[in-house]
Amino acid sequence: MRFCFAKLRAESAGGSVDEFSTRTTALSQVCLCGQKHKKRLSERVHSCDCGVRMQRDLFSAYLARHVKDNLLQVTEANESWSGAEPLLRAAWEQATTTQPASGRRKPTSFGVFGRPSQSGSSEQEGLPTHEASDVVAMAKACARADESAEV
Ligand SMILES: [Zn+2]
Repeated sequence: MRFCFAKLRAESAGGSVDEFSTRTTALSQVCLCGQKHKKRLSERVHSCDCGVRMQRDLFSAYLARHVKDNLLQVTEANESWSGAEPLLRAAWEQATTTQPASGRRKPTSFGVFGRPSQSGSSEQEGLPTHEASDVVAMAKACARADESAEV
């Protein structure tokens, strides 16, 4: 049901979901420069001596966009990085520095946002906003899909 839910959410936002093996890709352990950094689960920030520093889940999600046939296309990921990095940094900053309106606590899994040697900018203004989707309807659709799959 969890995968179904993710698929429906992605489709409602105009996207899609691709499955791949986390064993062959190991996205939380690799960098754009080709180096491997074995991390403990408690290490929430990917920081490489090549200069890439990003919250590990955001970085893995970025890398996941460049997986084809269960392999990370490093060259492709490298070419797109300069365009994606400001967006990911803004998302990381927003998740760790902006108090959620819901009153929920900030996600500790996002680590500590760092902005080394960069002057302030307002990159967040250009980010797209997503309208809240009907998660209840999606959950019901997933439950129906699960039921029909069990028959
Ligand atoms: Zn690197």
